[in-house]
Amino acid sequence: MWINSSSLLLGTNLKMNQTAAETGRFIIELAEVLPRSFGQYFIIPPFTSLAAAVRARDESELPVWIGAQNMHWEPSGAFTGEISAAMLTALGVDLALLGHAERRGLFHETDEDLQRKVQAALAAGLRVLLCIGETAGERANAVGLETVGRQLKIALNGIAADQAPMLQVAYEPVWSIGAGGTPATPDDIAPVATAIRGLLVSQFGDGGGAIPILYGGSVDPTNAGIFLQVPEITGLFVGRAAWTPPGFLAIVDSARDMSGRQS
Ligand code: PEP
Repeated sequence: MWINSSSLLLGTNLKMNQTAAETGRFIIELAEVLPRSFGQYFIIPPFTSLAAAVRARDESELPVWIGAQNMHWEPSGAFTGEISAAMLTALGVDLALLGHAERRGLFHETDEDLQRKVQAALAAGLRVLLCIGETAGERANAVGLETVGRQLKIALNGIAADQAPMLQVAYEPVWSIGAGGTPATPDDIAPVATAIRGLLVSQFGDGGGAIPILYGGSVDPTNAGIFLQVPEITGLFVGRAAWTPPGFLAIVDSARDMSGRQS
């Protein structure tokens, strides 16, 4: 059974949900119920909840990275509505989520934008969680692997091997995420995860072999553990199903029970 126990990562992107007070409570309540030795968790709330999330992380000592949902590549300037990497690190944020399908699709982020953002985040000392994934149309035309490869190669172009420990990659087929999404099957995911690993190893050598690769898209307590049995998948990126403490815990329990992993 495939499990890379040392790098299991599991967490949620809250999207445009929760006030600061709600996120603070969410993390404190999670800290009361989640197993501490299961792996590394992450919570990615809206910008307005980041300070409260960092406080709750520090107070609870939960092994949780707090992530921002986006950032600009410039350190400062005339970019109304944007946030820089330095502003995030000054708050105590651990990670930048970059390239989520909603940012690419709804807000027209390009691979070249993401290349600049990855470089800026790493230069500022932030971890990067890079989302990649093909659309339903690309899948229907059998170019899913090409899309994922292009997104990964452009976003990581120019990143050196010594920065690999700060990288995480989430494979999120666009057709599988959100309301109306269909969860991918292990057979859908396995060839893509293997291809992603191949690209990471060819760019970073041994360091590329250790970069966590997460699956995301309609993960719930009935299927979480199944995804962790796919070779090269070492974590889960969860949306709707993990937005309450009982929901988050149910995913962790499922991942633990179905994958055979012990906490
Ligand atoms: C997502 O939107 O990235 C996601 C994983 O959502 P869900 O789990 O709700 O499909």
